[in-house]
Amino acid sequence: MRIGFIGLGVMGRRIAANIIKSGYSLKVFDLVEEAVEELKDMGAEAASSPADTAAGSDIIFTSLPNEDIVKKVITGQDGILKGAGQGAIIVDLSSITPGVIRAIGRDAAEKRISVLDAPVSGGAVGAEKGTLTVMIGGDIKFVEKVRPVINTFSKKVYHLGELGAGDTAKLVNNLLLGVNMAAVSEALVLGVKAGLDPDVMYDLISQSSGSSYALEAKYPGFISERNFKPGFTIDLQYKDLELALSMSKELGIPLMIGSFAQQIFQLARSSDLGSNDISSIIQVFEKMADETVASKKSKDRGADSSDS
Ligand code: NAD
Repeated sequence: MRIGFIGLGVMGRRIAANIIKSGYSLKVFDLVEEAVEELKDMGAEAASSPADTAAGSDIIFTSLPNEDIVKKVITGQDGILKGAGQGAIIVDLSSITPGVIRAIGRDAAEKRISVLDAPVSGGAVGAEKGTLTVMIGGDIKFVEKVRPVINTFSKKVYHLGELGAGDTAKLVNNLLLGVNMAAVSEALVLGVKAGLDPDVMYDLISQSSGSSYALEAKYPGFISERNFKPGFTIDLQYKDLELALSMSKELGIPLMIGSFAQQIFQLARSSDLGSNDISSIIQVFEKMADETVASKKSKDRGADSSDS
């Protein structure tokens, strides 16, 4: 089985590496030469465009930053649909609006090419370890064909329904991630301002009813160390909150807590934090409280809050 992979960023390069390590032959494409070289060193073939990646591939994965780019890479000039043969399956791992992937699916169907939406959760660590959760929408017949490859980088695979159902589930998940990350940040700043040791707060809350993935994944190694290298960026989280808001508008329901979280992430973007990890949203709250949350151990080592 021949596989194409487009988008070798934080997630894509790690996912592609796991596919290659499992013995599949891989053709890759990205605008960033270094990312392509890294995969070439592992045995991948470099393609010259999305169309070239798709030519001769049975399955083509995309892991791209936003829906405009996904649309361009699949349906644009020199896009996947120009190179893919009949019967090929496109699997989009990006987080985008369900309506956009459905429209792409209709264009692809005219060329007898199938599309699945398969956004992932688990971050760079999950991508590296091959333990991602994958949320799939699309025809079960094609899901079964791609499942062995998806298994090379995931621990849980959910088939949620028709095309778009995976992206719908992902937006619901990431709405919660954004809201929880902002809430964790506000709460930690409050505790430190009131005199609590953040390491003790982390130990205690992670064993208590206030815990969440945002606390457990983003205090150790990130907030505690003042390390805001992504990870999952503020910009990507903002995009996902925007998509959740547009989904709520389409459905005619309010998204009150989500709207507020989106504004907090917008504030972070206007403070030049957009390319930092989502955990750096805490800097918005720290600024308002004139307080810094950091492990005493990292303070002793002289870690600086500006090294984001
Ligand atoms: P990223 O920005 O690190 O990587 C995107 C890659 O796409 C980059 O290497 C970029 O050069 C490439 N690219 C952009 N335009 C291109 C084009 N026209 N042709 C070919 N390549 C192009 O993003 P990421 O963090 O890897 O995220 C990818 C997707 O996965 C996003 O939709 C994101 O929301 C989602 N996601 C990210 C995480 C995370 O923790 N980073 C977790 C789950 C889901």
